[in-house]
Amino acid sequence: MKQPATPILTILRPLALAAVLLTLGAGCATTDYVTGKRTQNMYTLADEIQLGRSAYLETRNTLQKTDTPINQDPARVALIREITTNIAAVAHITNLTYETTFVGDPDIVNAYAFPGGHMMVFEGLWNETNGLVQTVDELAAVIGHEIAHVNCRHSTEAMTRQMLPNLLLAGGMIWAEIEEKEDLQLLFGGLMVVHNGLVVTKYSRKDELEADRVGMFYMAQAGYDPAAAPRVWERLSQARPTQASQPLSIFSTHPRDTLRAQELRKHLPAARARYEAAPVKRDGTRRLSDLPPTTTPQKTKSKPKPKSNPQPKHYKN
Ligand SMILES: [Zn+2]
Repeated sequence: MKQPATPILTILRPLALAAVLLTLGAGCATTDYVTGKRTQNMYTLADEIQLGRSAYLETRNTLQKTDTPINQDPARVALIREITTNIAAVAHITNLTYETTFVGDPDIVNAYAFPGGHMMVFEGLWNETNGLVQTVDELAAVIGHEIAHVNCRHSTEAMTRQMLPNLLLAGGMIWAEIEEKEDLQLLFGGLMVVHNGLVVTKYSRKDELEADRVGMFYMAQAGYDPAAAPRVWERLSQARPTQASQPLSIFSTHPRDTLRAQELRKHLPAARARYEAAPVKRDGTRRLSDLPPTTTPQKTKSKPKPKSNPQPKHYKN
């Protein structure tokens, strides 16, 4: 049977919890590589590399189990690697191994970044019926966006943001349980749901807009025409309802595409100045449809296929 808590314990428990949280908060203060401002991240860059690598291997393993071809099309693999190398060369974090894996599934319209430098680009991104990129510049806009996520360390920052309030709310729930305050337990539980549903999503949208802007600057500095970036989002906003209803998980947690295009247009003059100053200008107007015929083996119909776009649990597009 529970003993009623003494008044002193009632006061001390939340104080002890607050002290732990303050220590945690202070311990994860770090400098953002991109903005140079103080930020909260409980993971070191070394943690991040390890975390990203295991998530990448897990995702690749899942794809291979469904016979999805990985890096089996030399022309397309070479193209995405060339773009990755060019953009990574102008990124803020230079001591990472940036590597993009080409996933040869024309039905999956997706790209994502793992923490620490691994990225995946799916062939469906330039699928003729519902793909969203048509030229090398537009593909560079997507890869630039992913490299920006890695440099802004959005995945581990989001995990940190989720961790601190959740610890506080979980602590509150435990305290309410000890104190047998059911109404407070319910309140803390409810706040946790609200926090995870609203606050985290809101931050994540803010991160997306930052990745759009930073990614557009990166592509411009690497010599790709930044005007391609807003064009990709404008294309999505004009997609026919049948196209928009496709499982485009790259866009599912993103801000509305019209807002993204508007924001990108706002920063386009600054990006264009970087493009003009870039030492090399790439031939980014080449159309992806002009690439040599695919050498990716076709999947057999009888093979099992993921129901929706494979999506690593904690990592954003
Ligand atoms: Zn994104």
